[in-house]
Amino acid sequence: MVSSRPRTYSVEAVVVRASDFGEADRLVTLLTPFRGLVRAVARGARKQKSRLGGNVDLLRHIKVSIAEGRSSLHSVSQVESLSTLRGLHSGLEKMSTGLYLAEITERFSVEGGSNPALFNQLIYMLQVLDVEPLHPLMARWFEVQVLRINGFLPEIGVCVDCGDALEPADHVFSPVRGGLVCPECRASESDVLLSASLNTIKLLRHMVRAQWDGVRQLECSEDELRQVARVLREHMHFVLDRNVRSSAFMDEVTRWRSAPN
Ligand SMILES: [Zn+2]
Repeated sequence: MVSSRPRTYSVEAVVVRASDFGEADRLVTLLTPFRGLVRAVARGARKQKSRLGGNVDLLRHIKVSIAEGRSSLHSVSQVESLSTLRGLHSGLEKMSTGLYLAEITERFSVEGGSNPALFNQLIYMLQVLDVEPLHPLMARWFEVQVLRINGFLPEIGVCVDCGDALEPADHVFSPVRGGLVCPECRASESDVLLSASLNTIKLLRHMVRAQWDGVRQLECSEDELRQVARVLREHMHFVLDRNVRSSAFMDEVTRWRSAPN
């Protein structure tokens, strides 16, 4: 028998999405280590004297008590700040990078989907962003790590089609096929191919293996940065289209959209 009493639990979380809701409430999407995304309403959060206040704003790292609602809509009952991330919240550019990191993390997450590695990756990068100057590879390295954690890395070691070793030279990347393509396989399909110079390929391979400490010291040309950004963006686009927007994911979205206001 299902109990009708609301159950309350406490979790560490990052606010990855927030919007105004009703007269004075905020609707928040929280990323948690073991429960994936949790969507909840923070009642009265927009009132001046709310005890929830700024702690349910975007990119807050918090410990939060959630009261499970009878419908799918849960509510935030208590919030405590775990780290201020002051440097991140004080600059527009850092904040927009942080929001981008949160957005891709959210897109690779589902409600109830435990993924502590992904959660820790987001917290780590927000903390880096908080204290370090912006670096053009921050978002790229983060994308690579999110792909690695979720098992969606592109094939960059060998040809994605025939599996043959790739000569150390410039190649092309196929977002549809999910990896680098050797000269023989290049024309086997008429898909869109992206340039990947030898240096771009080396940079991608390095970012898979390296910690942030081993990436932040790299100096890349504009061309390499542009190519790496394009390859990763198009790859993520195809991965998300194919896999994350799977039936389970869409079910969640549908349930959320049809939740009573
Ligand atoms: Zn091939």
